[in-house]
Amino acid sequence: MERLDSYIAALRERCTSLPDKREGRNTQYSMSDIGLAAFSVFFMQSPSFLAHQTALEELRGRSNANTLFGMTKIPSDNHIRQMLDGAPTDHFDEAFARIVRDLDASGGLKSMRRLGGRVLIALDGSEHFCSRKINCPHCSTRKRSDGGTEYFHSFVGATLVAPGCGFRHVPATHSDLIPATDSDRVPATHSDPVPATYSDRVPATLLVEVAVSDQG
Ligand SMILES: [Zn+2]
Repeated sequence: MERLDSYIAALRERCTSLPDKREGRNTQYSMSDIGLAAFSVFFMQSPSFLAHQTALEELRGRSNANTLFGMTKIPSDNHIRQMLDGAPTDHFDEAFARIVRDLDASGGLKSMRRLGGRVLIALDGSEHFCSRKINCPHCSTRKRSDGGTEYFHSFVGATLVAPGCGFRHVPATHSDLIPATDSDRVPATHSDPVPATYSDRVPATLLVEVAVSDQG
């Protein structure tokens, strides 16, 4: 738990320094609480984490949000989306890098080394938003067969993998937004799609799955 606590503390520090677009006194929730609330949804792997936490808090006084993440207040999921929309993804790179450094220093990467001591990083694209109605200047677009236009956001995810290593050994590593594909649209803010936070420090081989789109 000591190590987990130190990682959450490092994440909290990164969340505290997220850009805050609010003006005046509308700052009921700290950027730290907002960022950690978003992270906690994934950490607890529950799609309804916030509602769950609020219910818990009412019943028992203190929730995981307080005890595990050190949050003081739990913002609504809408507020989280509004506040984190547009936040630079590379803001969290150093937190990833630190975990990989620690993992390497403690021998955690030993069982994952292949090809003469290198680690294998699988890169794969995925989508986290798709709509025909809602869109923003950073959306990629595609035409569907019925003539309609779909707006979507996609990203490249990087995962450390090794043949023979079970799922529980696979650390999720890094993700980066893929810039908009329509030339009229604004490319999403993104850094180098190759996770330099790893390749700088750990000899790595990148495995890339290339998909050919049939959407035109
Ligand atoms: Zn968009």
